[in-house]
Amino acid sequence: MTCDFSLEHYRELVRAAQRGGYRFAGFDHSPEAGVVILRHDVDLSLEGALAVAEAEAEEGAWSTWFLMTRSVFYNLASPEGERAIARLRELGHRVAHHAVWPDVDLDDRFEPVVAWHNPDPEYMQADVPGAVNVMGARFFDPQHYRSDSNQHWRHGCPHGELERGEFEWLQLLTHPEIWAFDGASMRESMESMLDADRAARLEHLRNDRIDLS
Ligand SMILES: [Zn+2]
Ligand SMILES: [Zn+2]
Repeated sequence: MTCDFSLEHYRELVRAAQRGGYRFAGFDHSPEAGVVILRHDVDLSLEGALAVAEAEAEEGAWSTWFLMTRSVFYNLASPEGERAIARLRELGHRVAHHAVWPDVDLDDRFEPVVAWHNPDPEYMQADVPGAVNVMGARFFDPQHYRSDSNQHWRHGCPHGELERGEFEWLQLLTHPEIWAFDGASMRESMESMLDADRAARLEHLRNDRIDLS
């Protein structure tokens, strides 16, 4: 098995958790032994998010998707954004808020759960009024947490530990863009994402009655 950042290896991670006997959980109550909380921070691409969400559902898994309201990369209030939320729910996933300090835009699109985007240590674990902070003490400690930041697992890819059931419980943070778009490096995956984005934007231009002849 190759630990690359492909959709296929993401599927293998999910299967490893299932073979390790874990069940999937969200952020609505404190983690119990034997759960894996799949968390996705959607920083860049709804299209990438949906590709991973579909794959996960096909594997019989579900997760919590953290979506931004003030992203420079996507517009959650657009028809595309609304369709993405609807599709995530349809697939059995949960939708929560990926917020940029200090703005929390919790509304009825989201469960009352917040993950800060690129948080500074000063507020990373602080209570968020009226919401669960996914990095708060209840849900976060380094032994029970793994993240794929910039295609780098600080402690190696967790598929083996998951398969062997070595975590008591785990919060597994992945960024869908890294897995949905092909590339052997972060740079290459981002280039793939931008290529797909260009094609999508040309389509938006056509739909907006722009003459591309
Ligand atoms: Zn792996
Ligand atoms: Zn983020």
